[in-house]
Amino acid sequence: MSPKIPVAVLGATGSVGQRFVQLLDQHPWFEVVALTGSERSAGQPYGEACHWVLPEPLPGWARDIKVQHSEPEKLGARLAFSALPSTKARHIEPRFAQAGVVVCSNASAFRQDVDVPLLLPEVNPDHAQLVYTQRQQRGWSGAIVTNPNCTSTGITIAFKALDDAFGLQRAVVVSLQAISGAGYPGVAALDIIDNVIPNIPGEEEKVEWEPRKMLGQWVDGQVRLAPVQISAHTNRVAVSDGHIVCASVEFNQAVEPQQAARVLGSYYGPEISRDLPSAPQPVISVTELPDRPQPRLDRGTGQGMTTIIGRLRPDPLFHLKFVVLSHNTVRGAAGGSLFNAELLVKMGILEK
Ligand code: NAP
Repeated sequence: MSPKIPVAVLGATGSVGQRFVQLLDQHPWFEVVALTGSERSAGQPYGEACHWVLPEPLPGWARDIKVQHSEPEKLGARLAFSALPSTKARHIEPRFAQAGVVVCSNASAFRQDVDVPLLLPEVNPDHAQLVYTQRQQRGWSGAIVTNPNCTSTGITIAFKALDDAFGLQRAVVVSLQAISGAGYPGVAALDIIDNVIPNIPGEEEKVEWEPRKMLGQWVDGQVRLAPVQISAHTNRVAVSDGHIVCASVEFNQAVEPQQAARVLGSYYGPEISRDLPSAPQPVISVTELPDRPQPRLDRGTGQGMTTIIGRLRPDPLFHLKFVVLSHNTVRGAAGGSLFNAELLVKMGILEK
């Protein structure tokens, strides 16, 4: 067995950082050698710097690791999982790529750059090849690879399966997003208890644009944005984990709910993504129960990596409407980054 790849988690004390630590516990290919945080926590043992909020226990090996500053030369990692705020990621992540480290990032800072993959292995693994262009253009031997916003994730997986079968034209989507999506400590309790907040700054623009890049075709070494039009309303609701999105969708042709259910339930994604350690099993779970999916009951499906779709029915304005559930800190963040890194290993972009 080859030795595990040494990895760092950047921004390890936050909502997504904690998920990374939990999911990396006993990962078959990756071994955590460093955890980083801001001025606030650098120098402290992780167990003290971090207010652990996950139901799973804090792994023993992480408790005593001293939180470090995000300085690539000092961490000894070949791969970095970034859970940094976007404003910090913009300056810190290129320093890692420059030092030869591959960064799998949750931050939005580089998602729109034409030479940066925005990746979901079960949707667009071919876009990972952008790393070669990126290395050539930016003159670094590392890389920055991003995963999408947590609300874009579930709908893009659903849209991919439906687009392949029926040709996607337009969609109106309304999100009900969990509190953990706002980070820790995130939204104040007094603002969110007994409430819905109908504004998440910057979110609607991401949900309207990111699926177009991921559904885009790989042509002549570039990603051509998909022509689909999306209108998004995004809302914060008093749920701990798991984003719901209600979608109304128009296709190139009429689509019966049962046809759509068959297509979604039998979507496996490209071959290369199927047997990776974090691959969702199944990719999509379709429920026929009239009151599902629900975050509390269904977000753990497939270890939190599966996209759950229900309430498929005709739409009086478009063709079809349905509800998508995706675990925001697992499939929509840390689990998604791990899955991306595994794909890079399989493609030889990151050497084992
Ligand atoms: P968060 O809970 O606020 O955590 C932010 C983390 O960044 C903390 O560990 C913080 O460390 C660290 N940090 C801040 N400034 C730093 C610096 N200068 N150097 C090193 N570390 C620094 O945020 P989050 O929800 O985990 O989100 C992390 C990133 O993932 C964001 O870019 C977010 O947009 C994205 N994202 C989040 C979700 C989600 O569901 N939450 C989903 C997809 C994408 P200290 O604790 O030491 O201050």
